Amino acid sequence: MISRFAPSPTGHLHLGHAFAAWIAWQAAREAGGSYLLRWEDIDGSRCRPEYEASTLEDLDWLGLPPDDVSMRQSKRLPHYEQALATLRERDLLYPCFCTRRDIQEEIAQSGRAPHGPDGPIYPGLCRHLSAADVQSRIDGGEAHAWRLKMDQAVAMVGKLSWQDVEAGEQLACPEIFGDVVLARKDIPTSYHLAVTVDDANQEITLVTRGGDLFESTHIHRLLQALLDLPVPMWHHHRVICDANGKRLAKRDAATTLGTLREDGITAEDIWRRLDIEGRNARGSSI
Ligand code: GLU
Repeated sequence: MISRFAPSPTGHLHLGHAFAAWIAWQAAREAGGSYLLRWEDIDGSRCRPEYEASTLEDLDWLGLPPDDVSMRQSKRLPHYEQALATLRERDLLYPCFCTRRDIQEEIAQSGRAPHGPDGPIYPGLCRHLSAADVQSRIDGGEAHAWRLKMDQAVAMVGKLSWQDVEAGEQLACPEIFGDVVLARKDIPTSYHLAVTVDDANQEITLVTRGGDLFESTHIHRLLQALLDLPVPMWHHHRVICDANGKRLAKRDAATTLGTLREDGITAEDIWRRLDIEGRNARGSSI
């Protein structure tokens, strides 16, 4: 049994992160397995070493030091390139030259804006460019992302399902996202591709994260099928909100674990706030 906690070092941890780390730690401890930390640091401009340092400090303070912290996404770009090459060979990717503004204008003009979990579904502008047009734009150095041909991908793998510890068996429905970006313009990967490739590489059997990423799992399950990767179990926990019912955010200094600690809050108080009695019970449902 191998669990993981996969923070992006773009800010300080808050109670939601404590919850995800605790679930990963607890599950590994119960099963005599390992609990790994992976740095999801592909967003170079927003990641900072001081956030990595405070993350490790917070985990120590909580009593959840990871068994290993050596995996770092920014060092794994060739692995993501390889996965992209596999998908390209299967004719499942196409380059997309659109800017955000191109997409907004197209949506405004067409008067149709079907939405997925991440916002408007890509209207397909670049899906049917001619091969010659694509080649000349790439040769001209035009920045481009790579999108998945979602309908073809789904047709290729058929019906898929996945298991969540709290929510039970889920039918995968990645089509709600439309043609998702698997490699961004600035970096040859995306959250969805990197997380899927890395969870497989680390042989993760339990993925723990907040319920705000629940729907992303439909895409990850599809990518596992397309890339022939093993399928873990997921535990999406309820999203932790502040007293006003607003989802906690890293940018809100008042609710980081570091601030709570400075205010005299103890790790035991954190478990009480999360409703995790004595750190032995499972968290409440999503
Ligand atoms: N890196 C993501 C975050 O910090 C978590 C991704 C995951 O656990 O799959 O929100």
